[in-house]
Amino acid sequence: MPVIINVNGRITGEAEAAVSPLDHGFLYGEGVYEVVRTYGRSPFLFDRHMERLRGSAGRIAMALPFDHGEFERCVRETCDAFWAQPDASDEVYIRILVTRGVGDISYNPAACHSPTVVIIVKPLQLPPPEVYEAGVRVAIAGIIRNHPGSVSPRIKSNNLLNNALAAQEAYRLGAFEAIMRNYRNEISEGSISNVFVVKDGAVTTPPLDAGLLAGITRAFVLEVAPAAGVTIRENVLQDADLFGADECFLTSSTQEIIPVVRVDDATIGNGRPGPVTKRLHAEYRRRVAELTRGWGAAAAGTVLE
Ligand code: PMP
Repeated sequence: MPVIINVNGRITGEAEAAVSPLDHGFLYGEGVYEVVRTYGRSPFLFDRHMERLRGSAGRIAMALPFDHGEFERCVRETCDAFWAQPDASDEVYIRILVTRGVGDISYNPAACHSPTVVIIVKPLQLPPPEVYEAGVRVAIAGIIRNHPGSVSPRIKSNNLLNNALAAQEAYRLGAFEAIMRNYRNEISEGSISNVFVVKDGAVTTPPLDAGLLAGITRAFVLEVAPAAGVTIRENVLQDADLFGADECFLTSSTQEIIPVVRVDDATIGNGRPGPVTKRLHAEYRRRVAELTRGWGAAAAGTVLE
């Protein structure tokens, strides 16, 4: 099913979509982005994603060209164009990118007059059910997460080479995701996910100070945990905490909660997704269904079954 792309308000298929090679997003990776998914055709936690986009833009001294309402309208129009296609999937992946814009080849932001806004809408492709049922293997990457004094991991930046190189390491080893350490050798996060470990029933995830993206799903899991009877702390994690964990899981907007059952060549716990991870995921889905009620609660509740 064709992807639908909105470039500065022009909504087309992929073949007709174009951004200039002189766009500083292309030249320098100068831009920020968000990935949102729908439940029941409704973008989930959209406001939080827009807030983070604005924060990321501010951290690269870029003003967003739209207010919240305009972004919502553009996203809705692009989704509607996608859904107007025959056999369009109900659930979509939405990638919103804002770059510095087109300008002369110079680092001077004054070279660019207006940001470029791109919205990509494509069918939501979830990992296969066995990923949730059996869990995945992760590999600890040699590439470390950006130093917060470099391009801060708090910026959801289009400049993704660091993460791409870490992910490549993991893929070469046949692992599902790369886990990156920070410059202090502590665990920070995955290349596209945040990481949690469970030990003796208690859950720990690295603090933002460990140099990581403030994941929307990470925050959502922290919020829903009490209702699942689970305590989560933010604390520094070392390799040994990962290898010695009873359970481990990853979070991201598109994938929710993914159980991890192996780190490198070591088995975590009994090598099966654990009860705490399952309880949190069940509560996560319950809250999703609640929050999307009215737009399509049935789809929200069944999407990953
Ligand atoms: N860390 C990184 C580096 C990511 O790219 C992502 C995916 N956006 C995440 C964490 C998870 O963030 P979220 O829950 O907001 O999707």
